[in-house]
Amino acid sequence: MTDSCFYCEKDSRLTYLMIPIADFSTSTFYLNKDQTHKGRSIVAFNDHKRELFELTQVEREAFIEDVANAANALQGAFDPAKVNYAIYGDLVSHLHFHIVPKYENGEEWGEAFVNAPQEKKLLSDNEYDQCIQAIQNQI
Ligand SMILES: [Zn+2]
Repeated sequence: MTDSCFYCEKDSRLTYLMIPIADFSTSTFYLNKDQTHKGRSIVAFNDHKRELFELTQVEREAFIEDVANAANALQGAFDPAKVNYAIYGDLVSHLHFHIVPKYENGEEWGEAFVNAPQEKKLLSDNEYDQCIQAIQNQI
């Protein structure tokens, strides 16, 4: 299935949805272009694996460390009240975490975030750059 996976191909299907922030040891950290939740990001494992249990223990520990470092950077950049984490992958089965900062009185506070909102909050290129710079400053 890797021939149809945009996380592997890193093609326009990927760049339509997200912008790279940083390369981690086992994964790539991306800013999700949907910024309904400020700082919404993705950490995608570098190899095409479907499930956490397919990783070796060493890989899994390193991957979770990457996820924690990503969330820590988002906390430092935007001071959310809570960071939410989700692995879905029904349609895109390449292992990736959605990392979604949540803000009190903000969208979906106290509930699960909507993965594919009907109306995405998109930013200008300059606003994306500022957002990514703020995160990179925390890594
Ligand atoms: Zn893949």
